[in-house]
Amino acid sequence: MATARTRRPRISQDDIDPDADLIEQLAAHVPMRAMVVMAHPDDTEFACGGTVSVLCRDGWDVQIVVTTSGNKGTKDPEVTAQWLAGEREEEQRHAAEIMGAREPIFFGFPDGYIRNDDELRGLIVRQIRIHQPELVITWDGFRPGFNHRDHRLTGQATYDAIYPAADDHLYYPLDKDEGLTPHRPIAMLLAGTNDPDYHVDIEPVLQTKVRAVLAHRSQMGGRNEEQMLRMWRERAQRERATSADEQPIEPALRESFRKVLLRR
Ligand SMILES: [Zn+2]
Repeated sequence: MATARTRRPRISQDDIDPDADLIEQLAAHVPMRAMVVMAHPDDTEFACGGTVSVLCRDGWDVQIVVTTSGNKGTKDPEVTAQWLAGEREEEQRHAAEIMGAREPIFFGFPDGYIRNDDELRGLIVRQIRIHQPELVITWDGFRPGFNHRDHRLTGQATYDAIYPAADDHLYYPLDKDEGLTPHRPIAMLLAGTNDPDYHVDIEPVLQTKVRAVLAHRSQMGGRNEEQMLRMWRERAQRERATSADEQPIEPALRESFRKVLLRR
């Protein structure tokens, strides 16, 4: 695996054709490493679990980073924040395993209190320098309207960590003492956007996505695989039937993103 990766010719951001498929171009040219930076355990599975499953299936090395411990995600008055944090981290580990990603990294900030500050950006920069991803998936931190502050601020902090900090050794210089080198990914995919321009066909991996979503048992209220598969398929059909576009967006079962090329 490692040898196959090192043999791939490195291309620069400027060689990416914005009109051709992004993931296919990256897979042909760069080490196939991706990082997903999300706010809560289960964000990855809902927002991009199909895409992560496709990447892992195709041989990508995917590292999931979760900024909070999701320790407010309950209406049960008997549940403590500490217990819930442990439970949700365990669920996230299981979900990552189902999709084929690495063991997730948790920053453990309290649910609902994310700030786009030096501390969070430094932690993200460090993970980028350790993992050296060519593709980063995160929340669209700039989407106007209704949005969770942890999603918005995790998305913004990831964007700010990638540019300019992670690729400039004078930002967070202590990383150098650990032997970490500056790095700039080639592209980002922003999830939860109002304005998607990149779609991943998740039909072949829908069952894997559903199983990964269902790994978040504390959040899923006893739903089962069959119900979830049916729900996702029906939703895609409904969207297609009510679409105002003459040509409905392909593929029908998809995850959609805003594509950002990080030019030098
Ligand atoms: Zn969330």
